[in-house]
Amino acid sequence: MAAIEKVDILGVPVDRIDMEGALARVKELLDTEGLSAIYTPNSEMVVSAVKDKEFMDILRSGDLVVPDGIGVVYASRIYGHPLPERVAGFDLMVGMLEMLGREGRSIYLLGGKPGIAEKAADNISRRFPGLKVKGTWHGYFKEGEVPGIVEHINSSGAEVLFVALGSPKQEKWIHSNRDRLRVRIAMGVGGSFDVLAGEAVRAPAFFRKAGLEWFYRLVTQPWRAARMLSLPVFVIKVLADSRRRGKK
Ligand code: UDP
Repeated sequence: MAAIEKVDILGVPVDRIDMEGALARVKELLDTEGLSAIYTPNSEMVVSAVKDKEFMDILRSGDLVVPDGIGVVYASRIYGHPLPERVAGFDLMVGMLEMLGREGRSIYLLGGKPGIAEKAADNISRRFPGLKVKGTWHGYFKEGEVPGIVEHINSSGAEVLFVALGSPKQEKWIHSNRDRLRVRIAMGVGGSFDVLAGEAVRAPAFFRKAGLEWFYRLVTQPWRAARMLSLPVFVIKVLADSRRRGKK
């Protein structure tokens, strides 16, 4: 398998790949023995990884790591190693569903409020008829239930597991269970099931294309404002880090 060039963003190595390349990589991972993990960091996740070594190590161990946020793409330009484009986790998931459907592959959905994963599964099955949704489980379980959930996923025979528990919970969950899971690919997908279930909407295309999805979210979901305060912290850290590296 050809190695993909990586761009180091505050310690998180992000694959220098566009959407097409990411989907080609997913195809390779589907035919690779063992579990491969896909993570989609945005600037908020990178800042939290800088403060949380366990989370940093997990992101660093990802087999495909793409820039979910436009902030990460801008940061790569500041470092002088530009990433080709934003590869939003939601868009990558939908691209994967299309491709997996064409190939008659199978998936499992873990996460979201009770009922959401089932609703998302119904919509996915309708939209991608070739795809087999082998099972679902909601995301509000207790630690003691995890072995049963892993068994449910494994016995379903699903090849790809989408985990929607929010970040960093989903990445930590995938990592701590990766030796027990028998899926080929596990991917953290944040709030994607809510959108696929029709319970939440994405920003209109205009905002997404202009790199302003974060702004749309800030206005429509003001309770996220506190989380978004990590964006200026991210920019300051990237500027300081690129200057420090430039001096070496
Ligand atoms: N969630 C979950 N279990 C939890 C916490 C969150 O299943 O213990 C789900 C929640 O219902 C939502 C998703 O995880 O569907 C998190 O969405 P959010 O948009 O906050 O994701 P992020 O922005 O962190 O990627």
